[in-house]
Amino acid sequence: MLVDLHMHSNRSDGALPPRALVELAHRNGVTLMSLTDHDTMEGVGEARTVARELGIEFISGVEISSRWGGRGIHVVGLGLDETREDVTAFFDSVALRRDRRGREMNACFEKLGIRGAYEGALALAGNKSILSRTHFALWLLNEGWVKNYQDAFDKYLRPGAPCSVDVDWPTVEESVRFIREKGGLAVLAHPGRYHFSSDWMVEELLKHFKAVGGEAIEVCSGSQSRSDDVRFAALAQSMGFLASSGSDWHSDRSSRPKPGEQPQLPEGVVPVWTRFGF
Ligand code: AMP
Ligand code: MN
Ligand code: MN
Ligand code: MN
Repeated sequence: MLVDLHMHSNRSDGALPPRALVELAHRNGVTLMSLTDHDTMEGVGEARTVARELGIEFISGVEISSRWGGRGIHVVGLGLDETREDVTAFFDSVALRRDRRGREMNACFEKLGIRGAYEGALALAGNKSILSRTHFALWLLNEGWVKNYQDAFDKYLRPGAPCSVDVDWPTVEESVRFIREKGGLAVLAHPGRYHFSSDWMVEELLKHFKAVGGEAIEVCSGSQSRSDDVRFAALAQSMGFLASSGSDWHSDRSSRPKPGEQPQLPEGVVPVWTRFGF
């Protein structure tokens, strides 16, 4: 079994439509996958249909932007029913907050003499519900305001940069509670990527995540280092978390592993997909 439980389509900030993404995963040999777009499950229906056509096992997913300890923390929800109205309502509310942030960022760009950022980013987002910093970065690049995609984050968008605007994301506790109430399972995404000022902070985050009902962590992620994978495999075992593995692939803009190319789980951890009967 080749597993990838974390990837993005163009329903959030990935490059490929759900169909093409699942086809890519299939070409790469993935046999069990989840689509985990940021704060939306709009692509899940299409992805599931294509996965079925191609004989890939599929678990519904989403990556919920959350906050804890003054940081943006990502919580993956697996197994949610994307057709439930009380599920879509949660994401509609986050979409409004994203839109509000987009307008505030636009005001900031205008002060710097950069006009049309909001309209431009929205057009790249396909006028859909998830307006991401990725769309602003791509627009800045297309318009020649930055020399490459990464430069957009470094110059304008990363926390602390001039046009970084905070969003009132749900807390980690709220996201986990939402996932559990709707019958899903909460996975802490890429625990190695939060770059806390002290090392012990991430263990505090894991303890908090566990205390509020989180059940799994990404032990292997395309968006963290191989030494992180080793560290979090040990923590999953000692703290009693189920383990997940995902590429976190968005597009060829970054050199991250493509779907299915991230490391698979090491021996000794309990795979999260056992809870879904795989
Ligand atoms: P948002 O959820 O709208 O705040 O956008 C965050 C997205 O931007 C992430 O999911 C990444 O895909 C991308 N991103 C965030 N920080 C960086 C960074 N420093 N460099 C490149 N991409 C980033
Ligand atoms: Mn992203
Ligand atoms: Mn993430
Ligand atoms: Mn992701």
